[in-house]
Amino acid sequence: MRIDVFTIFPEYFSVLDISLVGKAREKGLIDVHTHDLRDFAHDRHRTVDDTPYGGGAGMVMKAQPWAEALSSVLPEGADEMPHAKRPLLLVPSPAGQVFKQATAQEWSSRQHLIFACGRYEGIDERVLEWAAERADVVPFSLGDYVLNGGEVASLAIIEAVGRLIPGMVGNPASLVEESHSDGLLEYPVYTKPSTWEGLEVPAVLLSGDHGKVDRQRRDWQLERTSQRRPDLIEALEVSGLDKKDKAT
Ligand code: SAM
Repeated sequence: MRIDVFTIFPEYFSVLDISLVGKAREKGLIDVHTHDLRDFAHDRHRTVDDTPYGGGAGMVMKAQPWAEALSSVLPEGADEMPHAKRPLLLVPSPAGQVFKQATAQEWSSRQHLIFACGRYEGIDERVLEWAAERADVVPFSLGDYVLNGGEVASLAIIEAVGRLIPGMVGNPASLVEESHSDGLLEYPVYTKPSTWEGLEVPAVLLSGDHGKVDRQRRDWQLERTSQRRPDLIEALEVSGLDKKDKAT
């Protein structure tokens, strides 16, 4: 997967040299390029923002540097490319669709992700219209709160999507039994010692009975999800439940 990131703070992305993403870059599984948006401004002050039409507080990022920046990585004839090869332009915005695990799964099969990190009051809306002829454009939100810029949101997506690329995570089974993979939160986990500060690991986990452990973990998932995220329980498909779940 190729990833291009456009930002006025390229140094934010130095963390991509470490941990799993760093290793994936070394192995050639992810090819990340970070670009300074100001390199595409032509005045002495490398200006990328201006005052908003219609008035109001704050500044808006200008269309011209964005169009030049994105043109530097957008291939010709993207609209004729097969879906997986078509670049996906991801625009962080608190006014975008909320990013979910299912979205991470979907985006992990794409070959080219481009992140346009906004600052100030955001990017001139015409850039998104212009880019839609050259890429699939998706404004996405990390959650219902406002950050100062799109950098942290883009880093979160790169990690969530990147770890789903085959070869990224040592044991792929660990990706299956995770919070949100089946619509539920993950069960609580424990490691040695079995007694710590007077607190015991639940006996069933030491029983060696895999059937009982599986059932208990499923019950913990349902219990934890209904306590912490009742919205997820309501959204569960009945077909995804087993008979014992229905009794729980
Ligand atoms: N005026 C914008 C609004 O109310 O929708 C907020 C602009 S915010 C201060 C500046 C930038 O931070 C946005 O352009 C976006 O790139 C990023 N940002 C802020 N909150 C975000 C969120 N929840 N998810 C993704 N990106 C966010």
